Amino acid sequence: MPSPLVELSDERLGSVRLLLKRDDLIHPEFPGNKWRKLKYQLADARQRGASTLLTFGGAYSNHIRAVAAAGRHMGFATIGVIRGEEQPFNESLALAVEDGMRLHYIDRATYRRKSDSTVLAMLRAELGEHYLIPEGGSAPAALLGCAELIAEIPEPFDLVVCPVGTGGTLAGLSMGLSPGQRVLGYAVLRGVEYLDDEIVRLQRETSGRILSNWTVDHRFHCGGFARRSAALDEFITDFERRHGFLLDRVYVAKAMLGLFTCIAQNELGTVGTVVFVVTGPKELDVAGRPQRARARRARVSSR
Ligand SMILES: *Cc1c(COP(=O)(O)O)cnc(C)c1O
Repeated sequence: MPSPLVELSDERLGSVRLLLKRDDLIHPEFPGNKWRKLKYQLADARQRGASTLLTFGGAYSNHIRAVAAAGRHMGFATIGVIRGEEQPFNESLALAVEDGMRLHYIDRATYRRKSDSTVLAMLRAELGEHYLIPEGGSAPAALLGCAELIAEIPEPFDLVVCPVGTGGTLAGLSMGLSPGQRVLGYAVLRGVEYLDDEIVRLQRETSGRILSNWTVDHRFHCGGFARRSAALDEFITDFERRHGFLLDRVYVAKAMLGLFTCIAQNELGTVGTVVFVVTGPKELDVAGRPQRARARRARVSSR
């Protein structure tokens, strides 16, 4: 830290200067925004004397993986409450288990009510005392961690761009901006217009203020979470050919496609310098841990 800031030259940008904030390089096991989002929550958990972290996620959640890895590194026991009555298991969850995480499955209907006090009380009764980290890590403390990214940018800029999952990262970035600067997020899930209210709620809870320096563009989900489209695939292939940089297809590529489309259609108005936050790598870790990857593959296929 701070993560590198590198300029990308691309003829399609016209007069826009594009800088990539390479948060994907922060740490091989909990890269990017996941580390920024967890940092102050882990400090708070430690200060409160908690020994176990509990959090929520889907079977392919990067956040679940990041909490498991952070727990192992920092000496917390971890519990992952996973959505799905069919008890999904895959390489991503296998890595979390390898990091010592205990998995607890709940059905989709209960998962939807996971913030209700009755569900939380049930989890406490069943799984013991724990420090709760919300889905995607998007607690007020996460916003403060993400806001810090802005102070790491050493030159003037007009616009920050990022992918949007739960909105915590965008909400935090927005809080770090100076007057006149804006953040534009691209939602990677379909039908999540409610996120705009969620971002307002998160910001109000964190700072007591409501900011109007942010926008979420809901047009580039490419079919929904982890879905792909021909246009997205083509964009990724072309981008790699031009820049030798393979974009993460779940989050980063959709935001980059959105940005390049908006620039082509002249939708951004007059912007000079844009900082694009590369929130994560194309695939969490794996490359750095070939032996563990092999062992894991063997175990997953034997289930
Ligand atoms: C989790 C994740 C996001 C989404 O962040 P939110 O704060 O939930 O919006 C974006 N990019 C990558 C690479 C992620 O892993």
